[in-house]
Amino acid sequence: MKSVENSAKLRLKESLVNKALLEMRKTSKADTLIGVCQAIRAEGTISDTHIGLLEASFGAERVQKALEALKESRIKKYVFQPSKRIVWIVVGKERDYLVMPLIDYCSCDDFYYQFDHGHVCYHIIAQKLAEATDQFDLYEDEDKLYDVLIQEWKTIPDEPQPSKKKKLEQTEQADAEDTV
Ligand SMILES: [Zn+2]
Repeated sequence: MKSVENSAKLRLKESLVNKALLEMRKTSKADTLIGVCQAIRAEGTISDTHIGLLEASFGAERVQKALEALKESRIKKYVFQPSKRIVWIVVGKERDYLVMPLIDYCSCDDFYYQFDHGHVCYHIIAQKLAEATDQFDLYEDEDKLYDVLIQEWKTIPDEPQPSKKKKLEQTEQADAEDTV
């Protein structure tokens, strides 16, 4: 089983990270993310220790993708007025992803198909890092635009993206989707 190999790798990495932060890893991965982000906010920077701890929980690839999104300013926070509803968007290569941090939700396929396993996709990590470091673009919009934008961000085929396939032939099917 791969999971046995993986946990051995994780243990190796853990020995490299700061002991105080390591304490947090005893709880769930989601709590690790929250704990690391609190440390990042308190220290005012993302250190190698923080990155090491995140990588031990989520794998280097996912963490690096999150850091890349942060570096490329691909995280946006929308605040709708007067309700003050908040929506976070992570701009991906092919589309935008809707992230709701309070419920750790993301609109990506990766999240959708791994949901039962408590999956944390790189968009969720990126959003939390952005919030902890105040590195995001802030937009304010009127409430009347909320439904329009949510609909736009959600208008995505639920099936796995045939990324390089022509999308045209699927347009008709997409139109038939429920629009509630
Ligand atoms: Zn995602």
